[in-house]
Amino acid sequence: ARKFFIGGNFKMNPATREQKRSLVKTLNEATIDSSVEVVIAPPAIYLLSLKDILRKEIQVAAQNSYFKPSGAFTGEISPAQLADAGIPYVILGHSERRTLFHETSELVAQKTRAALDAGLSVILCVGETLQEREAGQTAQVVQAQLAPVVAALAEADWSKIVIAYEPVWAIGTGKVATSAQAQEAHADIRVYLAKAVSSAVAENTRVIYGGSVTAANCKELGAQKDVDGFLVGGASLKPEFVDIINTKK
Ligand code: 13P
Repeated sequence: ARKFFIGGNFKMNPATREQKRSLVKTLNEATIDSSVEVVIAPPAIYLLSLKDILRKEIQVAAQNSYFKPSGAFTGEISPAQLADAGIPYVILGHSERRTLFHETSELVAQKTRAALDAGLSVILCVGETLQEREAGQTAQVVQAQLAPVVAALAEADWSKIVIAYEPVWAIGTGKVATSAQAQEAHADIRVYLAKAVSSAVAENTRVIYGGSVTAANCKELGAQKDVDGFLVGGASLKPEFVDIINTKK
């Protein structure tokens, strides 16, 4: 069985250390479902301090990493540095990085390979734009985003990958995918993995949903057969994140 997974992507928030402390307080004092894997991705500047003050059931993730282990790459962080600092996860291929920072699927695949080689686990983000969905290209777009990763990875590597299906039109818009839309996209990802990698990888890889997830919509989405959890943006900065962690309770 696939362990339910809740990720909190803080993006470039919070703006102050005081806000960070208050978020941690909420999480540390809450009753949380121990059968769920919970991972918080703060900005890099807060990774180590968060890791130290967060309850140990909650892991931390970086929001990005480069594909080289060290060197003259100003502004970048390497997967080896994250691993050395005891950071277990990294988010790669988020739509904001693809769009605002021009990351191609090939670059995302290179970064994914490097992260796995350094011993990290990866939350790999994919998803279509509204225009692509309306043109009926959702499955095709998602497969094209996954294909370079499939080519860069061996079958065994997939145990350290969580796929986040995040339709771009649902990110930060308050316009959540319907549970049927999420289920269909997740099932399509599994069909693709079965064909491109193996049926075991298709069956065992967690596929989580991201895009305007809230405490109000998480239960219905989380009840879908192929939805194995969420990657939460805005709501991960609010007390309702605790309710999202407890979706299955
Ligand atoms: P929102 O939950 O704010 O829509 O963001 C989703 C997201 O991008 C998580 O990575």
